[in-house]
Amino acid sequence: MKFQYILVASLIGLTACTQLQNTSDKPLKQSVVVDPQLWPKASSPIARTAQQEERIADILSRMTLEEKVGQVIQADIASVTPQQVRDYHLGSILNGGNSNPNNDLRAPASAWLALADEFWLASTDTSDGGVGIPALWGIDAVHGNNNVVGATLFPHNIGLGAANDVELIHRIGEITAKEILAVGIDWTFAPTIAVARDDRWGRTYESYSEHPDIVRRYASAMVEGIQGKVNSTEFLNEHHLLANVKHFLGDGGTINGTDQGNNVSSQTQLRDIHGAGYPAAIQSGALVVMASFNAWHGQKLHGHKALLNDVLVERMGFDGFVVGDWNGHGQVKGCNKYSCAQAFNAGLDMFMAPDSWKQLYSNTLKQVKSGVISMQRLDQAVTRILRVKLRAGLFDAGLPSERLYAGKFDLLGAPEHRQVAREAVRKSLVLLKNEAQLLPLNPKSKVLVLGSAADNIAQQSGGWSLTWQGNGLTNADFPNGLSIYKGIRQAVEQAGGEVALSLDGEYSQKPDVAIVVFGEQPYAEFQGDRAHLDFESQQGLLLLRKMQGRGIPVVAVFLSGRPMWVNPEINASDAFVAAWLPGTEGAGVADVLFTDENGQVQFDFTGKLSFSWPNSPSDTELNWQDKNYDPLFAYGYGLSVTQKHSLGELNESLGIDRQNNQYMYAGDPVPPWQLQVSTSAPTSNASQLIELVAVDDQAQEDTVLATWLSQATLSISGPTTDITPQLKEGMSLVMRVKVVESTAQSVSLTMQCEQECAATLDLTEAINQSKVGQWQDLEIKLQCFSVPDRDLTAVNSIFNLSSTDGLVLQLKEIGLKKTTQQGIKCN
Ligand code: BGC
Ligand code: BGC
Repeated sequence: MKFQYILVASLIGLTACTQLQNTSDKPLKQSVVVDPQLWPKASSPIARTAQQEERIADILSRMTLEEKVGQVIQADIASVTPQQVRDYHLGSILNGGNSNPNNDLRAPASAWLALADEFWLASTDTSDGGVGIPALWGIDAVHGNNNVVGATLFPHNIGLGAANDVELIHRIGEITAKEILAVGIDWTFAPTIAVARDDRWGRTYESYSEHPDIVRRYASAMVEGIQGKVNSTEFLNEHHLLANVKHFLGDGGTINGTDQGNNVSSQTQLRDIHGAGYPAAIQSGALVVMASFNAWHGQKLHGHKALLNDVLVERMGFDGFVVGDWNGHGQVKGCNKYSCAQAFNAGLDMFMAPDSWKQLYSNTLKQVKSGVISMQRLDQAVTRILRVKLRAGLFDAGLPSERLYAGKFDLLGAPEHRQVAREAVRKSLVLLKNEAQLLPLNPKSKVLVLGSAADNIAQQSGGWSLTWQGNGLTNADFPNGLSIYKGIRQAVEQAGGEVALSLDGEYSQKPDVAIVVFGEQPYAEFQGDRAHLDFESQQGLLLLRKMQGRGIPVVAVFLSGRPMWVNPEINASDAFVAAWLPGTEGAGVADVLFTDENGQVQFDFTGKLSFSWPNSPSDTELNWQDKNYDPLFAYGYGLSVTQKHSLGELNESLGIDRQNNQYMYAGDPVPPWQLQVSTSAPTSNASQLIELVAVDDQAQEDTVLATWLSQATLSISGPTTDITPQLKEGMSLVMRVKVVESTAQSVSLTMQCEQECAATLDLTEAINQSKVGQWQDLEIKLQCFSVPDRDLTAVNSIFNLSSTDGLVLQLKEIGLKKTTQQGIKCN
């Protein structure tokens, strides 16, 4: 994945805060040994038919060992060709969040469909004497068919949770299915039915609610919307496709909200909170469950036989197949991504082996031959996969491009779909404050819309939107979308009012009212983990205060993937709306902010918090019905415009150390810091300065590879910061770096204030003498930057590394630390 030049930072996880255990249950005294008897007992709602079972047995009997092993493996389209799917008889393919037909992020819908045909033809080719079983293609259509340009993007799950409308969820499922069917794909890795309990988790927005009730009801509704009603004629017919509940089990309950971490809740909590959606989804006909990356009491779910088999299959009556998550099997003890009999034997039926499929295939084959995996277990997994394929009608569906909805690309972003998304936006907005009943606004007034998020469809859509992390996009990438600002403009202009957009708070004509749109930058799994819930960025606050200072009534529209501590922003606004990540239909915001032309309320706010809102940045694990529950806004809170309500002044003291001294973590700048590339050379083409690519080290995309192409500077900049306390403490600037190539003439490092404020250090020798290909911590005492008569009280760019072509560095972390060693000598 290529970075943007001005990389608006993805968020990341930092050092762990103190672990806040849920106190509402007595944890850990109970045994962590699974007792299946504790789990609800049910049988599958779908009866097996003799005819289908015979057909499965017949297919199985004609499959070679190689075909069977191929059937249990799923590869990513970025790492597999149709020819390889044919040669290895692979049972399934996926496109990860960054994988697209022809490697083209903006591939047209026709390219998706054409590729679906290619893979289908390859998998069903019997010219080599094979059985020719159609491969299933899975896609993360998690808020609409979000990988395909032009699709309708619905609010992320957190916003849908606030809407609390089961019937709406059902319709969203139906629409999403149609937009996927248009491009010939068979299966969506959705819905996520995680119950996120610690909002530091970067996937909190993929969770409908912190409370199992909403998740349970939505799990059924979404599965039904996507697949059709179980045991009816619409079930998995040509208007529907396969859903997939994920991630089993406990993904939303890891310690500190760490992605892929360890869940140590008790077995009853695991069942009643995190497991709540599964029985419901299964009874609604869910046929695929995705295993989770996380562990329960230290044991990774991908290898957890008691949960995958004894609970899911034996107790809950799940009669489909279990798919792994992205190389998740590789995290099981004793495994790596190329080999993991343990996971398979534990009940994982299909490996998600995006880039590792080839070696995994040969290792799995060997393991069956040697008996590490029994033939019986392999047959069981293949049988389950075939059963799902048959139930989904895959054998009879024919060539993707010849199916009912295939090629109907008008469905992507169809007006009637967008109407539903707009309705979902309206219903998802939660009104937290409405002093003196400022809302609803009169559309006939002079309205000023402010902030860089106002006209920014990518930001309002969040992660899993065309790209995995949702970065690197412009409005042009959302041809059927409308930004929040454009929606406001429509409403106001139609009513005869006036509207202007301002990024910096300046205007030519004093407005009657101002609307500031601001919030988190897009992020997805892992990169979105955070250390606390302080919103940090000052951007929105400065604009709100500017308006407040000029006596202009101001509405805040806050975009975020989780509740956050924004007390200063709430204080600086007259009305405050939690808008979550609304997706492409920004007009839904104007629908509730404004009355109609005659001053009548068009749509009142009906959204209610499905997550408790924190009282402080460290209220990270704050959930309804906790002991000592003390939120700022409780679960279920949400005002209507008719309600008279005064919030009063909120406490603005932060209660945490905002200066955490970390500037880059896991290859990403730590918000509010940003990565920037610049040059002082006169002719500069940004794309020819420094190439930045996210590269895997220990985890996905946890480093950034920087290749200097010409004279240029890589910087980390952000709000003005006083680093003299750190200087006095004798701290060093520490970079976790790997030199990949170093033939550059010169390398230098400095810090910047409004103007130059620090010494420039020559690092040429230090870099050139580093061992190529080895990770190291480069440590430089802050004293080295300290220059007489200049001071480090107002640093706005902590790291500026300048060089020329010939320098290639892989960077992981940059921060200020106390070090024992002298490090690099000052020059
Ligand atoms: C892919 C995502 C995938 C992730 C795994 C990324 O490189 O694009 O689809 O989910 O890796 O963490
Ligand atoms: C995510 C899953 C997703 C898969 C495929 C993983 O990294 O955890 O939610 O379905 O990638 O993109």
